[in-house]
Amino acid sequence: MRTITIAAVAALLGADLLAAQPLRFEPRPVAEGRWWKGNTHAHTLESDGDSPPETVVAWYKAHGYAWLVLSDHNVFTDPVRFRTLQDSAFLLIPGEELTSAAEGKAIHVNGLNLPGLVRPESASTILETVQRNVDAVRRVEGVPHVNHPNFLWSIGPEVLARLERDKLFELYNGHPIVHNEGGGDRPSMEAVWDTLLARGKRM
Ligand SMILES: [Zn+2]
Repeated sequence: MRTITIAAVAALLGADLLAAQPLRFEPRPVAEGRWWKGNTHAHTLESDGDSPPETVVAWYKAHGYAWLVLSDHNVFTDPVRFRTLQDSAFLLIPGEELTSAAEGKAIHVNGLNLPGLVRPESASTILETVQRNVDAVRRVEGVPHVNHPNFLWSIGPEVLARLERDKLFELYNGHPIVHNEGGGDRPSMEAVWDTLLARGKRM
């Protein structure tokens, strides 16, 4: 993906998001949380984006975001590099897009709040490959996040339904070929989400 992906996600995070203590990045029950505007998925020249990370960080800060994850493909960009751009109103959450493939499809799983680089894993099937990358993120106490399931029609609802230890996926991604709206007989991501919820799968 060549352009900066602007997957604007308003995530429900803890009220201590901007506090100085180490962050346990897990969504909390609605009654306990507060909404902050952020983006879990942005690329830079560290992989296939079109701008240096400094420029991307400055853009999000200037446009009213409270937090950002630089999620380059299999590249960990340490937020410490941009210490001077962070303050009480803007936080960089360390992350990466674990980028793998299976059965000719693209398997992209974000790791949020990572301590460092996590190497992508692969297996013979799509489900097993997604699961291994989810578990690789969990092992370092990061939060996994399945990206753009409809990109190349890679990760269908049946895979998401059987996936374990993952609560997040991209409902919307700003890249032009990720098929948020579905196509042909393929459901939109919103329809997939509805199907999962109707089956009792909380994501
Ligand atoms: Zn991706």
